[in-house]
Amino acid sequence: MAELTQHAITGTTSLVGLIGWPVRHSLSPTMHNTAFAALGLDFAYVPLPVQPEHVEQALRGLVALNFKGCNVTVPHKQAVMRYMDELSDAARLTGAVNTIHIKDGKFYGYNTDAYGFLQSLLEVNCDPKGMRVAVLGAGGAARAVVYALARHGVGSMVVLNRTAQRAAFLVDDLADAFPDSDLSFEPLTSKALTALNSHIGLVINTTSVGMYPDVDSSPWPDDVPIAPHVTFCDLVYNPLETVFLRQAAAAGVSTIDGVGMLVHQGAFGFEQWTGHEAPIEVMRQACMAKLRGN
Ligand code: NAP
Repeated sequence: MAELTQHAITGTTSLVGLIGWPVRHSLSPTMHNTAFAALGLDFAYVPLPVQPEHVEQALRGLVALNFKGCNVTVPHKQAVMRYMDELSDAARLTGAVNTIHIKDGKFYGYNTDAYGFLQSLLEVNCDPKGMRVAVLGAGGAARAVVYALARHGVGSMVVLNRTAQRAAFLVDDLADAFPDSDLSFEPLTSKALTALNSHIGLVINTTSVGMYPDVDSSPWPDDVPIAPHVTFCDLVYNPLETVFLRQAAAAGVSTIDGVGMLVHQGAFGFEQWTGHEAPIEVMRQACMAKLRGN
């Protein structure tokens, strides 16, 4: 992999990057630069730490410096929205932009997490159409997941969150956009999960529980048995194998980790910026190598 990550920046190199605060732990520079090198594209992806009070200046600077676009991470995903000239449906309905394409001085804002999430299921032949789904968590990632699933036509969805009110807001917001969807919410408790358990085909962890450094925690309570034939999907990708996924594997059910979503959400931006099909497997291997510490 090492030889793929090295490519020269020249006088003609096109720039993209990541704005956030902080950005130092992101896998995106490695993922995209490896992909540019693999396709021989004269592009470079750079980290752009931007303090919250400098978001507007940073965006104007990207145009002035002729950047092709950028990714946006915490805490700027909402703050950048007001500067966009156009928003995708996913960005508008999830209330967050994580990818910007700059064209003719205009900002096109996307939320590629929804696309990335759905692709990560479909690539392992898990088609959620018509399924009954439990979404654990009601933050930004949950909004992208619920949007993607509602659009794809799941049978029904229950959003369970520690702060039930936040789940209620999420359901309320997206129910308007998808009036035919069967959306509901519950508090994230053993009691609620036990009541739902036997009817559910897919459980998705969109909480940050289990994410490094909180690696010994799981949002799935030990006292709730895991039903046969369910699939457990974790958006957390660091560590690759979370306690949540280990619980599922121990119960003998299928698991999907968060790397597929990371790679596919990145692929969407890559294709917007470069006009080339993203080398998905190269991007996946670059992320896996980094996560395994290679
Ligand atoms: P967020 O907006 O901050 O939401 C965090 C969620 O986790 C909320 O629902 C919160 O519940 C819940 N939570 C946090 N600590 C908890 C605890 N101790 N017990 C129960 N619930 C807890 O974060 P986000 O942007 O949605 O991201 C969530 C996770 O998704 C992160 O781990 C992120 O890395 C991952 N993610 C992965 C991808 C990917 O490409 N694979 C993409 C996006 C995000 P409350 O509302 O009660 O606080």
